[in-house]
Amino acid sequence: RPPRLNLMALEIVADRDAMVIPLACGLPDAMFAHDGQITKREIRAATLSALAPRRGETLWDIGGGSGSIGIEWMLRHPANRAIAIEKSATRGARIAHNALNLGVPALRVVAGSAPDILPRMLADGLPPPDAIFIGGGISNPGMLDAAWQVLPPHGRLVANAVTLESEAAVMAAHAKWGGTLTRMHVERLEPIGRFHAFRPGMGVTTYAVRR
Ligand code: SAH
Repeated sequence: RPPRLNLMALEIVADRDAMVIPLACGLPDAMFAHDGQITKREIRAATLSALAPRRGETLWDIGGGSGSIGIEWMLRHPANRAIAIEKSATRGARIAHNALNLGVPALRVVAGSAPDILPRMLADGLPPPDAIFIGGGISNPGMLDAAWQVLPPHGRLVANAVTLESEAAVMAAHAKWGGTLTRMHVERLEPIGRFHAFRPGMGVTTYAVRR
């Protein structure tokens, strides 16, 4: 009879400050390098829910900012792909940095301005999107139409509007293509002298539609 294995009892001491990537969407904002242009955690979790990633799908993240949406899309499954489109070169480099840092180095960054660059991406052989997220430049003329054009049938389009101009753009899209419009406000506790109060952030209107 073989001798019994001597199983060691491991004493695991968790580091409270360790950066552990949880399984759910909506990572803390501090996990991303950013300059303030980032979809905040709670809104990001709801946005990923609207984008409804499935295994092996490709996201085009227009106005990538910090890359948080594309990164969280890729984190859902190793076979998921994301391409961030960002007009600012500084932010484009930051997206690549965040993707590497959070374990999704395959995220691709296209430097350039939408909507002009979108048809060229297909022509250059980049994988077509199963879903498109627009987090910046929604009110640019032709942005929503161009996104719709490159979206294959049954593809999902989600856009977050903050300004009145971008809200007008998603309202017009809603009138043409249907879909849903929802609005979220998040308030955070802040000190006021020795007291505290909830400070509301800007509301975010989410447009979601299936082609
Ligand atoms: N979802 C992002 C935040 C987006 S902020 C995140 O979570 O990090 C909006 C971004 O859109 C900015 O970085 C801005 O540079 C970019 N942007 C605005 N108009 C654009 C356009 N026409 N084409 C590409 N990027 C654009």
